[in-house]
Amino acid sequence: MTPKIESASLQEIKAFQEIEMQKMLAYIGEHSAYYKKVFRENKIEISAIKTLEDLQRLPITTKDQLQQNNDAFICVPKGKIIDYVTTSGTLGEPVTFALSEKDLQRLAYNEAISFACAEVEPDDVMQLMTTMDRRFMAGLAYFLGARKLGAGIIRVGSGIPELQWDSILKFSPTYLICVPSFLLKMIEFATNNGIDLAKSSVKGAICIGEPIRNEDFTYNTLATKIKTGWDIKLYSTYASTEMSTAFNECGESKGGHHHPELIIAEILNNKDQQVKDGEVGELVITTLGVEAMPLLRFKTGDMVRAHTSPCPCGRNTMRLGPVVGRKKQMIKYKGTTLYPPAMYNVLNDFEKIDCFLIEISLNDLGTDEILIKIAAKTETEEFLHEVKDHFRAKLRVTPTIEFHDKKELNMLRFPKMSRKPIDLIDLR
Ligand SMILES: [Zn+2]
Repeated sequence: MTPKIESASLQEIKAFQEIEMQKMLAYIGEHSAYYKKVFRENKIEISAIKTLEDLQRLPITTKDQLQQNNDAFICVPKGKIIDYVTTSGTLGEPVTFALSEKDLQRLAYNEAISFACAEVEPDDVMQLMTTMDRRFMAGLAYFLGARKLGAGIIRVGSGIPELQWDSILKFSPTYLICVPSFLLKMIEFATNNGIDLAKSSVKGAICIGEPIRNEDFTYNTLATKIKTGWDIKLYSTYASTEMSTAFNECGESKGGHHHPELIIAEILNNKDQQVKDGEVGELVITTLGVEAMPLLRFKTGDMVRAHTSPCPCGRNTMRLGPVVGRKKQMIKYKGTTLYPPAMYNVLNDFEKIDCFLIEISLNDLGTDEILIKIAAKTETEEFLHEVKDHFRAKLRVTPTIEFHDKKELNMLRFPKMSRKPIDLIDLR
């Protein structure tokens, strides 16, 4: 199921992408009310854009523009729209994503080759531990991808460890598709209910939504905890509604593979220029083959690093390292650039910490301040020092850390309407 283009040379991949890019530009130049206006206002002759370097001359698309002009991005009449998806917008109202029949086929293809990348075969059975409804794209993509690949799928949905285990024992799935932190709940349930994890049918998990690796591809604290409790293979996947494309790890665990037939990926600095090889920057994407809502140079807000050396799996495609953080959440603290996930990792290293909340604010000097509120089993000065030392060792800086009551902290972490706990409040 590995597409030929993935093992082609970098030059061949580039040439292939340039042809696909030209088709994409011609399509949006004809069908997208939004991009037609952008091209007209900026006096852009799209037929002059022939290479990936030329692409850099075109304007970028931001989340705000997508939100404010939502309908103008839709390139097909209503009758052609099959599925409606929403994604959280930057300005309150959710952004609508429309998918045509062709887009659903593309989504199925994307997920099938991504699963194949994660060593899933037609004989495998996958347990879907995420929701398929609520206007989400991901769950539907996983279902369509498994179907296209010919693998079995059990749609359990999110949560309820007891039902998940009931399904595992009944249907013997070989893969789980889940948020990795939920695997800890699965391990806890199994341990408390006499289920022998070593004898389970599960051999791997496709981990969505949370990173499982450090930047050098070693397991992070969360993944180490999972592996200690349950020795299954973990595959990271990174995707978003706007991309309608996944970057899945292969068996070599060296970053999420790029699918050149589905998306063009650029990594840009603060001035919207290409970063130097191997530097962290914002992922900016151009979708390929999307019919209803194609996006040109869309800024994802995710800070990533690209890896371009050939992968031992035989694919030559670029790989994305774990998401370092959200661009908006970048913190400049005492001369160091930090992202919240790195702080989560440090805090998660302590068994004694029950929960935490990180507050980022601006001080009188206009620079960033970090306050970490923690609820811990041991509220001693010694323990506080231990945590601070660990911050210094891992991140070179020590933020302000305070002990708080667990109940009080959890009230802040679980506001009404929130789909998941909040670990960060950004007051800047
Ligand atoms: Zn690989």
